[in-house]
Amino acid sequence: MSERIVIIGAGHAGFNVTDALRREGFDGEIVLIGDEPHLPYQRPPLSKAFLTGDYDLERLLLRPAGYYDDNRVTLRLGDPVAAIDPASANVTLAGGDIISFDKLVLATGSRMRQLNIAGHELDGVCYLRTHDDAVTLMEGLESAHSVAVIGGGFIGLEVAATARKLGRNVAVLEAADRLMARALPPLLSGYFADYHRGRGIALHLSTQADRIEGNRGKVGAVRSGETEIEADLVVIGIGVVPATELAEAAGLECDNGIIVDALARTSAPNVWAVGDCTSHDNVWAAARLRLESVQHATDQARTAAAAMMGRSEPYRAVPWFWSDQYDLKLQIAGLTDSHDDEIIRGDPASGQFSAFYYLGDDLKAVYSVNRPGDHMATRRLLALGRTLPRDVAADPDANLKPFIR
Ligand code: FAD
Repeated sequence: MSERIVIIGAGHAGFNVTDALRREGFDGEIVLIGDEPHLPYQRPPLSKAFLTGDYDLERLLLRPAGYYDDNRVTLRLGDPVAAIDPASANVTLAGGDIISFDKLVLATGSRMRQLNIAGHELDGVCYLRTHDDAVTLMEGLESAHSVAVIGGGFIGLEVAATARKLGRNVAVLEAADRLMARALPPLLSGYFADYHRGRGIALHLSTQADRIEGNRGKVGAVRSGETEIEADLVVIGIGVVPATELAEAAGLECDNGIIVDALARTSAPNVWAVGDCTSHDNVWAAARLRLESVQHATDQARTAAAAMMGRSEPYRAVPWFWSDQYDLKLQIAGLTDSHDDEIIRGDPASGQFSAFYYLGDDLKAVYSVNRPGDHMATRRLLALGRTLPRDVAADPDANLKPFIR
């Protein structure tokens, strides 16, 4: 009888496990289970081109419908897994079906962190994680005059930029004293704050939303202390939490995500986990962490697929990420948990620059704004374990190619 691999979660990571297994030559059965009703799709455009109406669902799809038949992938969509039982090797769907497996992959992603302040249940308060959330948000944006975004992280700011492009009045409330503080060094936070202000966004830093106010069930304002920010649409983007419920209920080790090793194996035999829902020892940070990015979902999925096929390719991909806000493309290569030197390449005022972060002689991370060549070269450089002389980093005209040969 052929082997059956069951994958829970039909997002970026789940899809990429499927795809990598077939590319690796896996000839058995693949069952891909997703709670959303849609074929696997890309999430990043949801806060970008999809919101402005430039994309539709068809264009978001990771592969067209025919791919799944062609690759003999059994899709079970719109029916979440309610429980997993690694000991008896089966999963139970909410609809009652029980599916047995030889190997199981958890690719359940993450969910939006909820902000349960007074008024959170009012009509016009939204989150953005799924295609269906994006459709609701688009409908809200059509009639909204003023939008308040709670949370100055990547998703909140991308939505803010899009809403501004659509001509709405936009305010952003951020509890920290700078934007995207978890991911960006202060220089970049400041640059983006100025850019958003310059595009007409009202930025409220060090401002925690206390309550959402409304009348007749519809949102009307967000309040922080004595400050009242008028809004007929409120978007909450205060981060995500890993979807670990199934793993925890089954007794798998979890700590800020399902704990996996370098081959994406969980603490249970024959059970792997990939993507946003996992935490792993990251070689670039020398720490256990959870990454929330398409790169991580894709690369860890490939590691898991190879491991399931008996090949050991420990996960050590260079972390990279991007965000689009207005005409700015921010690209990040590497991680900066700590640094002792910051080198700027190019003139920030020109809208094209990169910031290089060093710890001693080691290049740790590079943040590029509208300089994709720097990003690609430094990703490669980091992957090769090399550094870059500071004077070369500082010279916007210096060719980086010789350093990656
Ligand atoms: P997901 O893509 O979330 O997929 C997990 C799937 O599992 C979901 O469909 C979920 O509903 C499903 N699921 C959960 N529990 C169950 C269950 N019990 N049964 C069945 N199915 C279940 N990353 C970038 O790198 N760059 C960007 O610019 C960027 N922009 C983003 C913009 C938005 C609006 C969002 C929401 C995310 C963005 N990200 C971006 C993050 C990126 O999309 C995620 O890191 C990536 O989707 C993670 O993939 P995943 O498969 O682990 O999780």
